[in-house]
Amino acid sequence: MDIRKVGIIGAGQMGNGIAHVCALSGYDVLIYDISAESLKNALATINGNMARQVKKEIITEDERIAALERIRPVEDMADFSDCDLVIEAAAEDEDVKRSIFTALCPHLKPGALIGTNTSSLSITRLAAATDRPEKFMGVHFMNPVPLMELVELIRGIATDEETFQTIKAFADSLGKTTSVAEDFPAFIVNRILLPMINEAVYTLYEGVGNVEAIDTAMKLGAHHPMGPLELADFIGLDTCLSVMQVLYEGLADSKYRPCPLLVKYVEAGWLGRKTGRGFYDYRGGEPVPTR
Ligand code: NAD
Repeated sequence: MDIRKVGIIGAGQMGNGIAHVCALSGYDVLIYDISAESLKNALATINGNMARQVKKEIITEDERIAALERIRPVEDMADFSDCDLVIEAAAEDEDVKRSIFTALCPHLKPGALIGTNTSSLSITRLAAATDRPEKFMGVHFMNPVPLMELVELIRGIATDEETFQTIKAFADSLGKTTSVAEDFPAFIVNRILLPMINEAVYTLYEGVGNVEAIDTAMKLGAHHPMGPLELADFIGLDTCLSVMQVLYEGLADSKYRPCPLLVKYVEAGWLGRKTGRGFYDYRGGEPVPTR
């Protein structure tokens, strides 16, 4: 099957990144968000990120202009009626995602494929909220999408081979490398990464080290490009907590219990970079540790 037009639901940090790479690879892109402000910010972010790529000579100015022209913000999912593929990248909340699929499916053409960018939720369960579980699968991009090479591909129990091969070819066409994961909570990358981040929050919670000590230790001691708390802020603490909850509940193992300090930050609305404050405060010029 040929993919030409891609719909994206959710214009947050992942949705705008997916729109960015799709448009640069020549796909027509429609992007929708429940929040008009998110949609507006996404277009500004894509523009800014592409301008940075021009400055670094990764793309040309003509490519930037052509790619921006391929992206169209839409205010109604009915506009996805001629999309060949729709990728859902809204908040990591199963009820939100299920209600999106219920609202989306009646508008889609019969052969259209659906992908979800979920970090952790069951692909099989999400597929069951659609009218086409065989044409549904996980297409898990990494953050920031334009820079990260990997896309994890996850089949649900019903995903057919044509859907898998079409979406794999689509990910290849974006210049990404794919890795196939089975449909178990948080798949591969987050099954390994998020418990490490959660452990870093426990290390902070128990006073073993402060924010700066923990991040410096892991950067210089384990050669991680970012410290785990800096990375948590980058991912979004709400997303980190959701993934830990899915691991904890889905695998029924207490080793995945979310750290109470992570819960507290999320309850405070300190969600990391996207809200200006998390384990660091980003509201000034330089990030300042909050503990
Ligand atoms: P985000 O908070 O930046 O963006 C989520 C967007 O979804 C917001 O703009 C919000 O307005 C929108 N939204 C919420 N409900 C909606 C609805 N009903 N209809 C349409 N839009 C709706 O979150 P994000 O970091 O972009 O994450 C999006 C998805 O990608 C999540 O499933 C997350 O787990 C996954 N993901 C995140 C990362 C990461 O590092 N942040 C990495 C890989 C995958």
